[in-house]
Amino acid sequence: MSPSPAPRAPLRRAEIVIDLAAIRHNVSRLKEHLRTPIMTVVKADGYGHGLVEAGRAAREGGADWLGVASADEALALRAAGDGGRLLAWLIMPSEPAEELVAADIDVTAYTIADLEKFAAAGDALGRTPRVQLKVDTGLSRGGAAFADWAKLVGLARILEAEGAIRVTGIWSHFSASENTADPASALQEKVFAEALAVAEEAGLRPEVRHLANSAGALLRPSARLDLVRVGIATYGIDPAPGVEGSPWPELGLVPAMTVRAELALVKRIEAGAGVSYNHTWVAEEPTTVGLVPVGYAEGIQRRSGNRASVWVDGARRPVRGTICMDQIVVDLGDSTVEPGAEVVLWGTGADGEPTAQDWAEASETIAYEVVTRIGGRMKRRYIDTDVDTEQGGDQ
Ligand SMILES: *Cc1c(COP(=O)(O)O)cnc(C)c1O
Repeated sequence: MSPSPAPRAPLRRAEIVIDLAAIRHNVSRLKEHLRTPIMTVVKADGYGHGLVEAGRAAREGGADWLGVASADEALALRAAGDGGRLLAWLIMPSEPAEELVAADIDVTAYTIADLEKFAAAGDALGRTPRVQLKVDTGLSRGGAAFADWAKLVGLARILEAEGAIRVTGIWSHFSASENTADPASALQEKVFAEALAVAEEAGLRPEVRHLANSAGALLRPSARLDLVRVGIATYGIDPAPGVEGSPWPELGLVPAMTVRAELALVKRIEAGAGVSYNHTWVAEEPTTVGLVPVGYAEGIQRRSGNRASVWVDGARRPVRGTICMDQIVVDLGDSTVEPGAEVVLWGTGADGEPTAQDWAEASETIAYEVVTRIGGRMKRRYIDTDVDTEQGGDQ
C-alpha cells in the first residue's frame, strides 16, 4: 500500500478520515509478524475508527476473531453482517444473555452467576452457549479472583459435561505490558499458567488461551499462546512508544486516522496581543494567526493548548492559547495561506504532520485516548488508498 495515504479531497469544515487500507495492511502485517491467530479489538467504536468499518477491514486483513467490550457492540457487528468468531467481555448483570447466545457470540464469564445466566439462556434457546472464562492474574479489574477460580472452573466443567455450555476459551489481561521493566507481566504469565493448570485438572480443554494485548503480543513472545487480542496496533498506533527492543519500527504499520479541518480565518495580530481565553499566550512580535473550527467539543484535549501543533502550508504550526469548545488558534508565522486552506491536526506523520502520539504527549495522555475521544460535530469519511486515487489531488 501507499506509505503516505494523505487524503486531499475537498474539505468542508472538519472531518475524520479513516483509511481502511491501513487497517487491512496493519492486521495482515501483525499476523505475519506474530505468527499467532489474531483477535482484532474493535470496542469503543473501533477506537474511534468506526466499529463496523474497522471490523470489516480487520476481517479482510485476516483477523480470526473480533473482540468487543459490550453486548451492544457485539450485536451491532452481527446486525452489520459479521458472522465470524466474536468475543464480548463486559456483559452486565442486568443484560439478558439470550440475544448474545442466539447471535453466536462467545461470551465471557467472571462469576458463578454469569455461568448460570449463560446456561439458562442456552437452555431457553435449545443451544449450547460458547463461554470463555476470565481469570484475574493481577490487574484486579475484570475476571474471577484467583481464590475463586477453582470453583468457577468446577462449575463450568459440570455445566459443560451436561451440555449446558461449551468452554471455548480461558483468558486474562495484562496490567503493564507496555513497560518491559515492570515485573508484573512475568508474574501474570506465571499466575495464568497456574490457572490453566487448574482448569486442565478439572477437565476443561478450551480452544483458545489468551493473555496478550498489543504491547504484550509485540514485546512478549511467551505471552502469545493461542490467540492475541490486538487493539491499538491495528490502527497503526504504537502501544509502547520508544521502548527499546520493540519490533515496532520494522513493522511498517500505518496510522489509519487523519483529522483535518479547513482554516476558518487568517489574520495579523500585533505584538502584545493576548490570544484566546485568559491570554495564556501573548504575541511577542506581530504574527499571522489562523482559526481552526474544532475544539474540546470534538474531543481535542484541552490540556494541549500552547503545546500541540498542527500542519498547515507544509510546516508544523503551534497551537496558541487555550483550546476552546469550538475552535483553536494556531500561529502561522509568515505563511500567506488563506482561509479555506487545509489544516491537518494529526495524520500518518509521513509528510511531517503531527501524529496522534504527538497530541497524546502534548496533553499528557496516551494516543488511545486521543483517537477514541475524537468526534463531536466531526463526521468520519472512509477512504481506501488501495483502490481510491483521491490522495494527492488538490495541491
Ligand atoms: C482493550 C482491550 C484489549 C486491547 O488492548 P490494546 O492495548 O489496545 O491492544 C485487549 N484485551 C482487553 C480485555 C481489552 O479490554
